[in-house]
Amino acid sequence: MNTTSHPTPYRGRFAPTPSGPLHFGSLVAALGSFLEARAHDGAWLVRMEDVDPPRVVAGAADDILRTLEAFGFEWDGPVMRQSRRGDAYRDALARLDRTGLLYACACSRKRLGESARRGVDGPVYPGTCRGRRPGQGEAALRLSVPDRRIVFEDALQGRVACDLAAECGDFVVRRADGVVSYQLAVVVDDAEQGISHVARGADLLTSTPRQIILQDYLDLPTPAYLHLPVALDERGDKLSKQTLAKRVDARAPLPALFDALRFLGVPADRSAGNVGEFWEMAAGAWSADRLPRLRGKRLAPPSACSPRAPA
Ligand code: GLU
Repeated sequence: MNTTSHPTPYRGRFAPTPSGPLHFGSLVAALGSFLEARAHDGAWLVRMEDVDPPRVVAGAADDILRTLEAFGFEWDGPVMRQSRRGDAYRDALARLDRTGLLYACACSRKRLGESARRGVDGPVYPGTCRGRRPGQGEAALRLSVPDRRIVFEDALQGRVACDLAAECGDFVVRRADGVVSYQLAVVVDDAEQGISHVARGADLLTSTPRQIILQDYLDLPTPAYLHLPVALDERGDKLSKQTLAKRVDARAPLPALFDALRFLGVPADRSAGNVGEFWEMAAGAWSADRLPRLRGKRLAPPSACSPRAPA
């Protein structure tokens, strides 16, 4: 399989979901991916992950972009918007279907919750509907996963191994309401944008093996991965728009930028008086070698689909 052939030059990206304004957790991902891209003289692209209409909050995409601008982020090329990528996703679904690995699944969430074992990301689907031909009707489409280990080398988390069948199970690539899954959209779009390096929050570490298998089936390149530490709230939960994490203040970027840089292990020199000076200081001080691996015990994943234990 096509594991790690990394095209050069470096092309990184930031891919927020516009389900609310930019908060500290997404600022950390933006900052880490941006500084890594610039440290490699690479490009940095932005993609709005607005594929799932019920999650999208009106005005949030523009709000995020304005905030990024106020913080001094500069991205290359036009912003990709998943809401306009329906044809590409349909095409990918058709290609997956030709492998014979897609099937229609009409199991309810409730039924799944009752019957299935817990995996790394919710219930492991027991394969009840395997073999049902995908039709036009109101069913989700699932991908049969192979009974083999997916192994990849994360630049920060080390070697990650996942037995997809046991720990994740067949997963949904298109929901019953017709919405394409995050896993499929992200793979199609990373390839379309020519992304060579993905730097994103470690909460997505357990998604990566599913993305690698999709890349394999769709014959798309697998980028290099670096999963950044994730900011947690006092309860140990990931800061996210769903938990109504506080937005960062676009009128006063410096305190949040300093905090985010420090969070990523860089001893921030707080003497920068404006955003321009901040970026100069940050680019000079940035080193991926300083990054802490994971933050907060609640994020420590179970034994598999997970990084090796720290030495
Ligand atoms: N859209 C995802 C988020 O906002 C990030 C996806 C990714 O970086 O692959 O959490």
